[in-house]
Amino acid sequence: MLKKVLIANRGEIALRVLRACREMGIATVAVHSEADRDSLHVKLADESVCIGPAPSPQSYLHIPAIIAAAEVTGADGIHPGYGFLAENANFAEQVENSGFIFIGPKANTIRLMGDKVSAKHAMIAAGVPCVPGSDGALPDNPDEILKIADKVGFPVIIKASGGGGGRGMRVVEKKEDLLKAVEMTKAEAQAAFGNPMVYMERFLQRPRHIEIQVLADEHGNAIYLGERDCSMQRRHQKIIEEAPAPFITPEEREKIGTACTEACKRIGYRGAGTFEFLYENGEFFFIEMNTRVQVEHPVTELITGVDIVQEQLRVAAGLPLQYTQDDIVLEGHAFECRINAEDPYNFIPSPGLIESCHLPGGLGVRVDSHIYQGYKIPPNYDSLIGKICTLGKDRAQAAAKMRVALAELAITGIKTNTPLHRDLFKDAGFLEGGMSIHYLEHWLQERKEKLAK
Ligand code: ADP
Repeated sequence: MLKKVLIANRGEIALRVLRACREMGIATVAVHSEADRDSLHVKLADESVCIGPAPSPQSYLHIPAIIAAAEVTGADGIHPGYGFLAENANFAEQVENSGFIFIGPKANTIRLMGDKVSAKHAMIAAGVPCVPGSDGALPDNPDEILKIADKVGFPVIIKASGGGGGRGMRVVEKKEDLLKAVEMTKAEAQAAFGNPMVYMERFLQRPRHIEIQVLADEHGNAIYLGERDCSMQRRHQKIIEEAPAPFITPEEREKIGTACTEACKRIGYRGAGTFEFLYENGEFFFIEMNTRVQVEHPVTELITGVDIVQEQLRVAAGLPLQYTQDDIVLEGHAFECRINAEDPYNFIPSPGLIESCHLPGGLGVRVDSHIYQGYKIPPNYDSLIGKICTLGKDRAQAAAKMRVALAELAITGIKTNTPLHRDLFKDAGFLEGGMSIHYLEHWLQERKEKLAK
C-alpha cells in the first residue's frame, strides 16, 4: 500500500482525500499557496508545504513546485483531486517519471480522453453510443462541411476538440450560418486551447445529463457504480446532483454501465472515471469522459457504500478492486447541493471572512466542507465552499432531509447560494424529477422576471 500521499489540491476535495488516507493509515502531505495557510486541509495534514503565492499558476498549477514538495517530504503517491492538474497528462507523466505514483489513469489515457475527437473515436470503436455527428474533425473543404451538416441534421453544435469547461462550443440553427460558425469556433479554439480542430454533433434539444461512475484496476477488472443525474446546471456548471437518475430502469442502467466497463477494459483504464452522457428519448449519447474523481462523487458513495477515493488509492498501489459488479447494489436515493460563496441572485462571487458557521447534521446528512468560523475565503479560487448531501430511502425522503439540512445551514459574513437551493427544493418541477439540462436556466429567467415586477 501507499505510505505517504501528497494531495495536490485545496478546499473540500483536499480534505476528502486526506480523510480517505487517514482511515487507511496513509500519511498525508498538504501543499498550499500563501493564501491557504489557514486552510483546514493544511491544519489536518501530517505535513504541509507552501508551494507558492496565491495565483494558481504559481502554486496549485506549478508542476515543479509540487514535485519538489513530494521529494522533500518523501511522499510515494500524488493525488490530484479534481480541477487544477487532475486532467493534465503532462503532470501525470512528470509525476511518474520522477518516481512517484500518480493516483489516476496513465498519462496516455488522460491524453486520449482529453482530446474530444480521439475520445469519441475510442468510444465508437468500443461500442459506446455517441451523439451522431461528423466522423472526427471537420475537413477544411466548405462543400464537405455542408454535406456533413445535411447528413447530421440541423440544429448542429460545433465543438472544439481541445475544449473543456463548457467553452469552445457554438450552436448553429440553419445552413446559412454554418461556415461562418465553423470558422469562428476554429479561431476561438486555436486562441483558447492552442488547437483549431473542431467537430460537429447534432444539437440535442431537451437532453438530460446522466453520467456513469466507473472504477477499474490494472488486473483487467472494471465495474460501474450506477449513474448520477446532473441536469441542474447554470452555464454548464452543475449545482445539484442526484443518484440514481429518476426514471432510469435497471435494464437501461445495466446496458449503458456494461458498455462503459467494456470500454474501460478496451482502453486499459485505471482508477476512477466518469462517462458523461446526454440522455434524450430513452437514448444515451456519450459526450466526454472525466479521468478523475468528480465533485459529485459522494451521491454515488451514499447509495453504493463504496468509498471511491479509497478505491483510487488501492488501484494506484496496484491492488485489485475490492468489489465485483455483483457486489454493487444501489440502495436509497441521494442528493448533493453545491454550496458556493456567491450572491444567490446575480452569482457574483462573495469571498471574505466567515463570521459564523453552523453546518447541518443528523441521520442521512453528509457534509464535505473546509470552512469554519473565522476562515477567510480567498478570492483567488473556485467559489465552492462545501457540499451538503442527503441519503433517504427514496427520492422524497432524501429531498425532505435536504430541506431540513438547508434550513439548518447558517453561514454569516459572506453570501452563499443556499437560498437558491432552498427554493429549488420547494419547486414542483424539480421535485418531479427528470428535468432537462435547460430547466434551471429557464427557472432562473422566470425568477428574474417575477422579481423585476
Ligand atoms: P465541456 O468539456 O466543455 O464540459 P461537453 O462536451 O461536456 O463540454 O459539453 C458541455 C455541455 O454542452 C453539455 O453538458 C451540454 O449542456 C452541452 N452540449 C454538448 N454537446 C451537446 C449536444 N450535442 N447537444 C446538446 N447540448 C450539448
